[in-house]
Amino acid sequence: MKLEEDIQYLKGIGPKKAELLKKMGIHTVYDLLTWYPRAYEDQSSLTAMADLRVGEKASVSGVIMNLAEKQAGRRNMRILNAMVSDGTGFLQVTWFNQKYLKQRLNVGTRIFLTGKVSYAYGGQGNYAMSQLSSFQILEEDETAESSCGILPIYRATERLGQKFFRQMIKKLLEDMGEVPEIIPAGIASRYHLMPRREAFCKIHFPENRMDVKGARNRLAFEELYLIQCGLMMLKKRSREGKQGVRHSEAGRLMHKVEESLPFALTDDQKKVWEAIQRDMESTVPMRRMVQGDVGSGKTVIALLALVKTVENGCQGALMAPTEILAEQHYQGFRERLEPFGIRIGFLSGRLTKKQREKVYGNISGHGLDIVIGTHALIQEGVHFARLGLVVTDEQHRFGIAQRAALEKQGDLLPDVLVMTATPIPRTMTLTVYGDLEVSLIRQMPPGRKLVRTFVRRPERRPLIYSYVLKQIREGRQAYVVCPLVEMKEEIPLPSAEEVYEELSCGMFRGIPCGLVHGRMKSAEKEEVMRAFHEGKIKLLVSTTVIEVGVNVPNASIMVVEHAERFGLAQLHQLRGRIGRGAYQSFCILVSDSRTETAKERLHIMESTQDGFVLAEEDLKMRGPGEFFGAMQHGLPDLKIADVLTDLDILLKARQAALETMEGTADMGKILSALAMQYREHFLHIMET
Ligand code: ADP
Ligand code: MG
Repeated sequence: MKLEEDIQYLKGIGPKKAELLKKMGIHTVYDLLTWYPRAYEDQSSLTAMADLRVGEKASVSGVIMNLAEKQAGRRNMRILNAMVSDGTGFLQVTWFNQKYLKQRLNVGTRIFLTGKVSYAYGGQGNYAMSQLSSFQILEEDETAESSCGILPIYRATERLGQKFFRQMIKKLLEDMGEVPEIIPAGIASRYHLMPRREAFCKIHFPENRMDVKGARNRLAFEELYLIQCGLMMLKKRSREGKQGVRHSEAGRLMHKVEESLPFALTDDQKKVWEAIQRDMESTVPMRRMVQGDVGSGKTVIALLALVKTVENGCQGALMAPTEILAEQHYQGFRERLEPFGIRIGFLSGRLTKKQREKVYGNISGHGLDIVIGTHALIQEGVHFARLGLVVTDEQHRFGIAQRAALEKQGDLLPDVLVMTATPIPRTMTLTVYGDLEVSLIRQMPPGRKLVRTFVRRPERRPLIYSYVLKQIREGRQAYVVCPLVEMKEEIPLPSAEEVYEELSCGMFRGIPCGLVHGRMKSAEKEEVMRAFHEGKIKLLVSTTVIEVGVNVPNASIMVVEHAERFGLAQLHQLRGRIGRGAYQSFCILVSDSRTETAKERLHIMESTQDGFVLAEEDLKMRGPGEFFGAMQHGLPDLKIADVLTDLDILLKARQAALETMEGTADMGKILSALAMQYREHFLHIMET
């Protein structure tokens, strides 16, 4: 049986089931084989309810004795309560807002749960569990089978249940015979990898925890190894026949620009700048990421690096994710650098065709030294005469393909500098970003005032907004941020438009108010933003479009409505819009969420202003999927490796991939494995 065989030819799978499987993304035998369990039910580690301890995590299984649903709170949250027993004790289980769950549960249903144990309030039973880390409805005849050890738990659906997956995969493993190896034998033995077939068997049907661990190691290694090989091939191809720029040591221009800065660099900025100069002065192309919190002063670093490339007779490009940000950089750079005769250009989708073509001409004719812009920088038609350095700001908004497109410009291999305010784990910089060195700016420029942050309930809105009004009367400006409203929302939230209506026609009547949201045309957005920037608008109601980089030092107060809807890192980015001037600034997070975690989460905002701490908290609470999900990084989700915790395996896999690339191994085999695993995803990247 071939791994790339269509699933519908497997015994026991007819056209109907095949269709359902394909809906889940399972097309081939290989997909089924790599449909890894998302958890295991380990009978040997089940805790009897009588032995549960408050504060500890435990797995239990039991029968539902009693089931009740109620609605509570101002937002009519659905609360489903079940009393579960395993014969030794009772456990009260609570689910919030799980609309369809009730239909699937009955008195008598057997369930399996993992979660943290707490005291039960009211009701019978000694203990309670909510926020389950795993939950599983057990089928009737699962007892016999499951009593024998560890059972895989798959992502299943109502029509294709656990039993289906367990049986199909078991049968597949029995019938399959040999599984071709893709990792070269030398590497497999050097890195002590278990045979591939054994790994597949053990990941699905382990006998003990060690089996799971060993198999997982092997399979995660393979996954990361393949991606590394793919990235290395991609890099090699884009570099073929090209040379890197070797910049010289700082000369007169560089020194003059450095002397003209209105402030001294902080120690962290100095360190980063030194590292960048070292990189740029070497023949190996620079690939460096600067991670520094909002306001830590990354822009000046980009500016210095760009001047360095200009001093060496090259051109530099700075790509920003939004028009507003690009334009802001453009203005700032012109003020700083034009006195030195450095020619700066701007390129964005907003330019007319004629304007754009003029800029294109200046780029290819070397009539411009530094070009600042948006995605427009990577459109066809842009050809740099001599591109020496590419800087991307707020990197996580660009995908792999976009970055590669800019790096491919011209005949030189430009140095690459990436700036981000989001701390990105090493595993990600090595995979998604394809191998970047990382420098950190942890220190803030001196004199930065802390933004005073408060979490407040919606009942206090009148008070909050009268304070906003007072600030505006004193000459300040204010932001009001609302979450995006989705149509499918169960609990209706006021949209930015509605909040704008409420405020501008109510308390803020007579005060110039503005509204920006994602559905506006970018020209309209720009206009409002510009008016706010110029102080013509005093109160700006918006969705998160203001998130990145906007600089209005006179804005000193921000109200975030339904703050629980935002991630901490996002709130932090938002809050970074204020506290930029000489005024004490205030951030008020309005939220009526009652769950402990939500409250706890927001209160972290009151106690710290360290973006790294907040991002870590976010990662812990929301998991990497959601955290990185929005980043559109251009790589598919990993099937088994974990972007946060598998750094060790990744480093080994990367080393192995390097060895493979240097050796004489059969790259065709690796390419076809990549194709099997990632299909259109990776192939798309390979083609760019
Ligand atoms: P970010 O890292 O968020 O891009 P910016 O580069 O926009 O931050 O810097 C934020 C502000 O701090 C800017 O007004 C900038 O001029 C100022 N700044 C940067 N470095 C220093 C420094 N070493 N000393 C004082 N002010 C600085
Ligand atoms: Mg910035």
